[in-house]
Amino acid sequence: TRQAETHGFQTEVKQLLHLMIHSLYSNKEIFLRELVSNASDAADKLRFKALSDSKLIADDAELRVRVSVDKEAGTITISDNGVGMTRDEVMSNLGTIAKSGTSEFFSKLSGDEAKDSRLIGQFGVGFYSAFIVADSVLVRTRAAGSQSNEGVEWSSQGEGEFDLRLIEKAQRGTDIILQVRDDAQDFLDESRLKGIITKYSDHLSIPVQMPERDDDGKATEWKAVNSGQALWTREKSDIGDDEYKEFYKTIAHDFEDPLLWSHNKVEGTQEYTSLLYVPKRAPWDLWNREQQHGIKLYVKRVFIMDDAQQLMPTYLRFVRGLMDSNDLPLNVSREILQDNKVTRAMRSGSTKKVLGMLKKLARDDAEAYQEFWNTFGTVLKEGPAEDHANQEKIAELLRFASTHEDKTEATVSLDAYLERMPEQQDKIYYIVADSYEAARDNPALEIFRKKGIEVLLLSERIDEWLMSHLTEYKEKAFQSVTRGDLDLGDLEDEEAKQQQEELEKTFEEQVKRFESALGDKVKSVRVTHRLTSSPACIVTDENDMSTQMAKLMEAAGQ
Ligand code: ADP
Ligand code: MG
Repeated sequence: TRQAETHGFQTEVKQLLHLMIHSLYSNKEIFLRELVSNASDAADKLRFKALSDSKLIADDAELRVRVSVDKEAGTITISDNGVGMTRDEVMSNLGTIAKSGTSEFFSKLSGDEAKDSRLIGQFGVGFYSAFIVADSVLVRTRAAGSQSNEGVEWSSQGEGEFDLRLIEKAQRGTDIILQVRDDAQDFLDESRLKGIITKYSDHLSIPVQMPERDDDGKATEWKAVNSGQALWTREKSDIGDDEYKEFYKTIAHDFEDPLLWSHNKVEGTQEYTSLLYVPKRAPWDLWNREQQHGIKLYVKRVFIMDDAQQLMPTYLRFVRGLMDSNDLPLNVSREILQDNKVTRAMRSGSTKKVLGMLKKLARDDAEAYQEFWNTFGTVLKEGPAEDHANQEKIAELLRFASTHEDKTEATVSLDAYLERMPEQQDKIYYIVADSYEAARDNPALEIFRKKGIEVLLLSERIDEWLMSHLTEYKEKAFQSVTRGDLDLGDLEDEEAKQQQEELEKTFEEQVKRFESALGDKVKSVRVTHRLTSSPACIVTDENDMSTQMAKLMEAAGQ
């Protein structure tokens, strides 16, 4: 044993530790889920490394996690023979938070403990959750492939700093020893821990073992307490809703149940299993541009990578879950995934699954769908631009505010619009503006109100982008009411046409005066019957940039 060095935690870690201890007191047991899932990840990582270097695993090939309690010492130990960590890895993994956008996230916390604990749940507390129940934590680890004198010991009281030193460690892997707090002594009970493990970790493919004890309390042998079969490899009919929900919480680090899930075994030219979840709440980093995707990739049950971006389009980045392929090679890299027939098939199959389960939700439970829309709708609006093949399916899922509803919440589907529209109407009318009020009060709507024609009111940043890619739905073209010569087609009656001609004659002189006064500030000045109470409005030519798009381009410095 050598001299210890003391290091300070990254500021964000200090904030996280503080918040966690103060806001997760009613959810203490999740520390075990997090630590066992890290041990399971460590086993996955070792198996993956051993694919190219089998020596790494050979001498101790049965990967497992062990959990035990020492009542006298007041400690809980979680021990794995997984990949372990080098000194540098310990420094960065257990001293910093590597997620981008973390400090932004912390700045959003409100101080309201109930609210913050939900946010923290979505953030994923991971290793640091050990401090919910422990007032000091000791980690002893040795990386696979390193020497027995290259072990590393990390210890901390969870305040500002941690100590690090090199140690002898006979076996590879990681032991985590928790010195349990006074107010968490009830966790020093193996049957309690066993209950938590079966609740959260039953589905892990790695055995989670606990000691069998004789009448004197002496440990006799290690025995697995979980079923040890990866959940997604089991038959759907044998898996209960609760098991799906707990599995979701483990992989998504969420405290809440998922909204929906879909478990599919695909056979045929491609063979794969997918288990896909839609969360109830937006992840904390939904709007972070570099945010990670939530799909884990497995090949023949071997974990390959987190955040396999190629497996899900960006507009479905809120989906969590995994895909397990039988066709990809075990040594698949992110580069290979980029352009690969197998990946493409999995991606398109899974996209359809997700769109299908959302459609079903919209049909069966409008209220739940509305909540989904309020949470993730803006992301889904990226879909028509990104995914042409599924445009109609995505369009079906969109919701809009409209003149029919007269409220800001977007609740109108295109199907509802089509159903209401009169037979002679052949277009879907919409307006894009800076805000709901600006859309609602735009003078261009006057004629539509008068004629009782519904207009969709769009006012999100993304809407102009959406509408420039969405040109028709069920063979009806979209038509902006602020663009070009408004031709109401069959909705126009003879009388109105005559009136228009008369108006144009009457105001010929005035139009000329407007044109000379405005000069080249405008393309042209026209008499319109569109307006019923406002004197004038600005419109754009059919092929020109809309005023809204022009503003966006200007804001982007174009
Ligand atoms: P996450 O698991 O989401 O990456 P955690 O906070 O749970 O975040 O863990 C941080 C990192 O610490 C892990 O990514 C991993 O690299 C490392 N780590 C934690 N526990 C172990 C372990 N038992 N064995 C090896 N590495 C571990
Ligand atoms: Mg973790």
